Amino acid sequence: MFSVAIDGPAGAGKSTIAKAAASQLGFIYVDTGALYRAIGLFCIDNGISSDDTSSVEEGLERINIELVFVEGVQRVILCGKDVSDDIRTEQVSMMASEISRLPAVRKFLLGLQRGFAEKNDVIMDGRDIGTVVLPDADVKIFLTASAESRAKRRTLQLEEKGETPDYDKILEDIKKRDYNDSHREIAPLKPADDGIIVDTTELTLDESIEKIREIISGRMN
Ligand code: C5P
Repeated sequence: MFSVAIDGPAGAGKSTIAKAAASQLGFIYVDTGALYRAIGLFCIDNGISSDDTSSVEEGLERINIELVFVEGVQRVILCGKDVSDDIRTEQVSMMASEISRLPAVRKFLLGLQRGFAEKNDVIMDGRDIGTVVLPDADVKIFLTASAESRAKRRTLQLEEKGETPDYDKILEDIKKRDYNDSHREIAPLKPADDGIIVDTTELTLDESIEKIREIISGRMN
């Protein structure tokens, strides 16, 4: 099996780029952030605070998360319900970032993530894929961009959906999540020692996809 790890901060374009590259290469695209988001949503729905470690741990015993692929597109099933759209709110983003620092949460998701790479050619995106989940991945990419350009892209995305986003709040949330993700004790966000750093601040989406595809193709030959 061939595996590609794409890590990087929130809003760097990982999912869009990884999804496009996976479909061009015929790989499965696994968005691991969705797993943390599903646990975040579970905590919100059950009134569990991210500070209450024992309640989160107790919740993990009741939680059931599955990823299913419908025509190559990942859907997230939480306790039997498709929550793929419900996990995309800012509230769930922050909760996911908070609970993701807990060792029990990371351990709970590790086997699930590795299972996909054992059975499929994958492009997996997240924060710790190249460093922890798939340390032997064939290709490791660290995709990044300035916080301002990431906030700008996110604002545009929401405007396209007809919403009226607050750029300053989005930028503040991105910086807060960057800080949480890079400073946690286990599996912090950082490039793998043998990772290739790709900065997309000055690249268009198409240029970014092309660059990633070139890197992957170069390793497959
Ligand atoms: O990628 P996405 O923004 O959907 O991830 C939501 C949150 O889940 C991140 O802010 C991060 O805290 C956490 N996460 C993680 N490790 C991963 C993927 C996501 O800690 N591999």
